Amino acid sequence: MKRQDYISWDEYFMGIAHLAGMRSKDPNTQVGACIVSDDNKILSMGYNGFPRGCSDDEFPWEREGDVLDTKYAFVTHSELNAILNYRGGTLEGSKLYVSLFPCNECAKAIIQAGIKTIVYDSDKYADTPTTLASKKMLKAAGVEFYQYKKTGRKITLDM
Ligand SMILES: [Zn+2]
Repeated sequence: MKRQDYISWDEYFMGIAHLAGMRSKDPNTQVGACIVSDDNKILSMGYNGFPRGCSDDEFPWEREGDVLDTKYAFVTHSELNAILNYRGGTLEGSKLYVSLFPCNECAKAIIQAGIKTIVYDSDKYADTPTTLASKKMLKAAGVEFYQYKKTGRKITLDM
């Protein structure tokens, strides 16, 4: 008889999204994303960070001050990184797992990439204009989204 306590697809892909987020150098926010095909193959992953060649030690991680002194001018979000990291063809019809609800800028990229479903974990910025704008665009474009349902399972890895 087969094992009964294997992890579900949602636990697997959301787990991978969180694992990807652990690669982020951002001292305040770590977000990870995982894009999968409709037959549950992982197509791409990403986390928030500076573009290639932009040093994590030289570019700013600050959240306040002149725009050029903050991370906001430079950071690429996990969802956009996951989309851009995919070089295999089209993401049309794929599903995105992400540890935090996508902002409006990422929503534009998600829509234009043809991603059809978003599974998100945290929605802690639900009341902010960027998240409201994001949801407005996703709904208009017919992108479905639903919140990941926590199972309470504790998954540990000895590294
Ligand atoms: Zn974003």
